[in-house]
Amino acid sequence: MLDAEDHRHIAQRLDLLHFQEEAPGMVFWHPRGFTLYQALEDAARSLLRQDGYAEVRTPQVLRQAIWEASGHQAAFASGMLAVADGGPPSSLKPVSCPGHAQLFKRAAPSWRDLPMRLAEFGVVHRNEPQGVLQGLLRLRQFTQDDGHIFCAPEQAVEEMARCCRSVVRLYRAFGFERIRVGLSTRPAQRFGEEARWDQAEAMLAEAAQVAGLDEVLLQPGEGAFYGPKLEFGLEDRRGRWWQCGTLQCDFFMPERFDLRYVDAGNVRRAPLMLHRAFFGSLERFMGILLEHHAGRLPPWLAAEQARVLPVGLEHAAWAEEVAATLRDAGLRARCDARSHSLGRRVKEAFHDAVPFHLVVGSREVEARAVHLHGDDLPLDDARLRLAAACASPL
Ligand SMILES: [Zn+2]
Repeated sequence: MLDAEDHRHIAQRLDLLHFQEEAPGMVFWHPRGFTLYQALEDAARSLLRQDGYAEVRTPQVLRQAIWEASGHQAAFASGMLAVADGGPPSSLKPVSCPGHAQLFKRAAPSWRDLPMRLAEFGVVHRNEPQGVLQGLLRLRQFTQDDGHIFCAPEQAVEEMARCCRSVVRLYRAFGFERIRVGLSTRPAQRFGEEARWDQAEAMLAEAAQVAGLDEVLLQPGEGAFYGPKLEFGLEDRRGRWWQCGTLQCDFFMPERFDLRYVDAGNVRRAPLMLHRAFFGSLERFMGILLEHHAGRLPPWLAAEQARVLPVGLEHAAWAEEVAATLRDAGLRARCDARSHSLGRRVKEAFHDAVPFHLVVGSREVEARAVHLHGDDLPLDDARLRLAAACASPL
């Protein structure tokens, strides 16, 4: 029995998505759920643009040679889903890093091209045992808001500090006020020299400080096999902490893939590779978000932001025109002109977590106006008011 505040219950109530046994740990997004998903993607994309990333897409399936070079075959083999296509062994990607490394290599950049910031909404697969799957929180297929910054070592602290500031901005925009930052240092099983680990850990700590994150929790031994990381956690309305974003500092993968840029003195050097994800998994973040807001998301995120309700059928034409005007203004709006009573349709709009309900009757048709939560307004005023209320804070 699911508790009413469980995101799986909320997702069912709001008709967002479903699961089927033929696709364990993978989501069938319904139209309303996918609208929400896209709102999350748009929020992340807006920050990517502001922070100077180029968005890319890399292949879903890669030959094993790539996973051997990246170290995933050695460290993560059981987590990868193999694909048999009759050719050499291949796997569905569990991460996008090696793909982005290929893009860097192909670009053959000079120091003037750095930092190179690449981002991908990467659909990844992980071979999780069925027993651990848990709604959106633990999936076998999910989307990472993945990004990699290839930079010269002297650019790294500034780049990392920018990531720290942006991830905090993102969480605040979604209504999470309390944010926690951890520094995960070298694990027992790791690649690379100790001096490199010392440097990478020191740079991450400095970046957090530059970004004004005063309290950084030390998490000894919890770094990835290829580098230390900052981990960003948030507290939900029920007092639970969720670790979501990561920022990793990696000297190792550029060496393994023989990545080089030409510096100002015409010397070929290895860049530093920063791995960053703010949501982590978009699906998991949505699960957390739905529980945090108990399904009633802020207007800028709502799958349906406004519903127009004609009092009677004779008002439906104007109601449709109102909805179309709101859609033209970029709002997610529709008209519910079914023959059910107005009271029932208002109740359904509440049930569907639609934040704005616009009622139109004879008076509104005549005045080309709408009734919005107690006020009679000309349509233009209502449009402006809703557009302001639904504007993205990012
Ligand atoms: Zn990566």
